[in-house]
Amino acid sequence: MDFSLTETERAFRESVRAFAGRALAKGARERAHDPRFPWDVARMMAEAGLFGVMLPEEDGGQGGTLLDAVIAMQEIALVCPRSADVFQAGNFGAFRTLAEYAGPAQKERFFTPLLRGEKIAAVAMTEPEAGSAVTDLKSSCTPDGDLYRLNGGKVFTTNTEDASVFLVYCRFGPGLDGIGSVLVERGMEGFRLGEPMQYMNGESWCALYFDNVPIPADRILLKEGGFRKQIAGFNVERVGNAARALSLGEYCFREAKTHAETRRQFGRLLAEFQGLQWKFAEMRVALDSAGLLLHRAAARAGHGLPDATDVAMAKYACNQAGFFAANESLQVMGGTGYSQELLVEYCLRKTRGWMIAGGSLEMMKNRIAEGIFGRSFSQRPK
Ligand SMILES: Cc1cc2nc3c(=O)[nH]c(=O)nc-3n(C[C@H](O)[C@H](O)[C@H](O)COP(=O)(O)OP(=O)(O)OC[C@H]3O[C@@H](n4cnc5c(N)ncnc54)[C@H](O)[C@@H]3O)c2cc1C
Repeated sequence: MDFSLTETERAFRESVRAFAGRALAKGARERAHDPRFPWDVARMMAEAGLFGVMLPEEDGGQGGTLLDAVIAMQEIALVCPRSADVFQAGNFGAFRTLAEYAGPAQKERFFTPLLRGEKIAAVAMTEPEAGSAVTDLKSSCTPDGDLYRLNGGKVFTTNTEDASVFLVYCRFGPGLDGIGSVLVERGMEGFRLGEPMQYMNGESWCALYFDNVPIPADRILLKEGGFRKQIAGFNVERVGNAARALSLGEYCFREAKTHAETRRQFGRLLAEFQGLQWKFAEMRVALDSAGLLLHRAAARAGHGLPDATDVAMAKYACNQAGFFAANESLQVMGGTGYSQELLVEYCLRKTRGWMIAGGSLEMMKNRIAEGIFGRSFSQRPK
C-alpha cells in the first residue's frame, strides 16, 4: 500500500501552497472576523484556476480528482482558514451538484458565473421541522399552468446574504421519491429573506420564505425521484466539510506547537511538560488517522462521486479530530489561544459547527451502521 501522493499531486499541492502564501496569508485574520463572503478571494481563486478543480476541462474545470480538491483545500485552510469556505463554494456544495446535474442552458445561466467567482450558490435543505429528518421537508412545488409554484420556507442556509442562487430542496409529491430541487434566484417574485441571524462561528444566515414563487421548467434541477441523486452530490459537500474541519484542526495544532516551543513558564518551555506533550501526541494521532480516512474516501472516488459510507466515516472522524485539536490547542495556548488576536478560537467555533452541519455526527454514525449491516434502519416510530 502506498501512502504517498503521486508526483503530479505533489506538484499541484506545491502550486496551491505557493498561491495561498502569496495571495491569502495577508488579511487572514480580518477575513475570519468578517461575516460576509470574501469576494476578493473568490476572484483570485477563479483566476488561479482553483474553482472547478474536479470539473472536466471542457466544462471549464481542471480535470482533477476529488483527492486533488481535498489536497488544495488543506493547503488553503492552513494559510487562511476563512478562505477554505471560498474554495468550498467553488468546488464542493451546490457548485458540484449543479455541475453534476444541470442541463446545458442551466449551466450557462447559473453555473458559469459561479465558476468565474462572480456569484455563489447556497444549498437550502433544512426546514424548521426537517433537520436531521430532512426527508420530512414540506416546501412544495406544484404545477400551475405551464409553470410550477414554490411554497414553504428554509432555515440555516449558509451564505444567505451573499448567494445569488439557491438550490432549494422541495417536494413535487409525497414521500422520499417526491423530493426534487429547484433553482431560486434572489429577487424572484414571492421570494423573501428574513432578518440575518448569527451563528456561533460568526457567519450569518436568514430564513428563506417562498410564497407562490413562479418556477418555470428551466429552473427545475431534479424532479421527483431526484433525492438520492442529490444526496449523492451532497456527499461531495460532506468531503469538503471534513477537509475543512481537519485542516482547521491542523492549523491550530501548528499554532500550539510553535507556542509550546517558545513560551516559558516555571523556567521551562511549555513543550517540556509531559502533560502538554501528551496532548500533542493525542492530537497527532487523531488528525493523522482522520486524514487517512478522508484521503481514502477521496481517492476511491477518483473523478466520480464518493461512496456514502466512506464519506460518513471520513466526516465523522475529521469533525471529531478537527474540534479536538482546536480545543486542545486552545488549552495549550492559554489566554493567547482564547483571544481573538489569533485564529485558534475562530477555528474552534468553526469546527464545532461542522459537527452539526451537513449531517451531524450522530447521523454519520447511523450511516456507518447501515454500511456495516448492509441494510437501512428507519429512525421513525414503528
Ligand atoms: C454551521 C452550520 C451551517 C449550516 N448550513 C446549512 C446550509 O447551508 N443549508 C442547510 O439546508 N442547512 C444548513 N445547516 C443546518 C444543518 O443541516 C442542520 O442543523 C442539521 O441537519 C441538524 O438539524 P437540526 O439542527 O434541526 O437538529 P435536529 O435534527 O433537531 O437534531 C438535534 C440533535 O439530535 C440528533 N439526532 C436527530 N436525529 C437523530 C437520530 N435519528 N439518531 C441519533 N441522533 C439524532 C442530532 O444529531 C442532533 O444532535 C447548517 C447548520 C450549521 C450548524
